Amino acid sequence: MVFTSYMEQALEEAHAAAKRGEVPVGAVIVSPEGEVVARAGNRTRELSDPTGHAEILAMRDACAALGSERLPGHDLYVTLEPCPMCASAISQVRIARVYYGAADPKSGGIAQGPRVFSHPQSHHVPEVYDGISGEESEAMLRAFFASKRS
Ligand SMILES: [Zn+2]
Repeated sequence: MVFTSYMEQALEEAHAAAKRGEVPVGAVIVSPEGEVVARAGNRTRELSDPTGHAEILAMRDACAALGSERLPGHDLYVTLEPCPMCASAISQVRIARVYYGAADPKSGGIAQGPRVFSHPQSHHVPEVYDGISGEESEAMLRAFFASKRS
């Protein structure tokens, strides 16, 4: 379905990130018209930028393309549960729906940790759908970290 195909693109970005030696996380932003307006994978190492998470880079590109600091009505597909930094940015940019793959017990900020969207300071709360292609995303992350340890 349409649904899966957007996550497929996010998974492609995650694969590409792994090939660059980055933590394999990918994100795609879809406009209210159903058009992919930005896609990105992690580039924290390449950019020497701790904020270079897939979601942040995709939101930056989408905002630049739209000429706006907000993306109302847009959907975000990301292969891993967003961290608190990304969750906060997602709220500020007014993303309508977040679809994510694997849960992140270590660094996630939506279903665990600070639960950013449940916080009273969260001015905008998107709809959240988890576990979308979660197994594939998790397998990729596991393989990546296993290769780093060997
Ligand atoms: Zn993040």
